[in-house]
Amino acid sequence: MAGKKVLIVYAHQEPKSLNGSLKTMTVEELKKQGCTVTVSNLYEMQFEPRATRKDIVGDLHNPDHFNYGVEAWKAYENGCLSEDLIEEQRKVKEADLVIFQFPLYWFSMPAILKGWMDKVLVQGFAHDFPKCYDSGLLKNKLALLSFTTGGDEEMYSERGPSGNIRYLLWPMQHGILHFCGFSVLSPQICFGPEYVTEEKRRQMLTSWVKRLQTIWEEKPINCVPEWYFGNI
Ligand SMILES: Cc1cc2nc3c(=O)[nH]c(=O)nc-3n(C[C@H](O)[C@H](O)[C@H](O)COP(=O)(O)OP(=O)(O)OC[C@H]3O[C@@H](n4cnc5c(N)ncnc54)[C@H](O)[C@@H]3O)c2cc1C
Repeated sequence: MAGKKVLIVYAHQEPKSLNGSLKTMTVEELKKQGCTVTVSNLYEMQFEPRATRKDIVGDLHNPDHFNYGVEAWKAYENGCLSEDLIEEQRKVKEADLVIFQFPLYWFSMPAILKGWMDKVLVQGFAHDFPKCYDSGLLKNKLALLSFTTGGDEEMYSERGPSGNIRYLLWPMQHGILHFCGFSVLSPQICFGPEYVTEEKRRQMLTSWVKRLQTIWEEKPINCVPEWYFGNI
């Protein structure tokens, strides 16, 4: 929809990957709609995933005992986070929708993306107890996980060896995104792109682009335990 702002946080090393194609097609489709699209290409940016003292500029709140959560929170409040983190927070603040594009690594996200979550979504900026979940500081924003897997859909079915794919979405969608107040749209999952035909891969890309054409009409999921572990 024209005027909407979208941030794509993209975590893949290879532009020719399916993730790379998904990202490129997302940018093209959303720009066609008149959206402003920003991409944080984490590997290209050489985003530093480790949460360390280097993220805080100047004096520490407690130099005798380094507590990352507290230090990042105080640094955010005092404008003393490092420039790269302030820039990522600015992008999140402006966005109506944040799309995370990544390959599934060990039932989760690649370390570089997890590092982005650890360091960007700090207390004071994204949450501030009791301002979490529906009152999280990023409420009124949408988030969507778009990812690829190695396993096929059957493996991630209720009785498959990996279990229902929704089980592993709980920490990412609920523990991170919903905790920070995001309304979560249904995930976009491309199962096993390495092992399917070229035709099937093209279908994965076209169905994603088709979905993007009406993405602004979508209702967020009901991000409650039952969505993940029950029958809704
Ligand atoms: C450390 C690690 C942990 C992992 N853990 C898990 C796990 O827990 N669970 C799990 O299921 N998997 C796991 N995997 C596998 C991983 O999720 C998959 O390898 C990955 O999701 C595949 O996506 P890709 O974009 O990297 O594929 P790629 O191999 O880059 O792309 C797949 C195919 O798509 C083709 N392609 C690209 N663009 C297009 C286009 N425009 N049109 C048609 N074809 C195109 C490419 O040429 C390629 O042939 C893990 C992998 C690693 C490295």
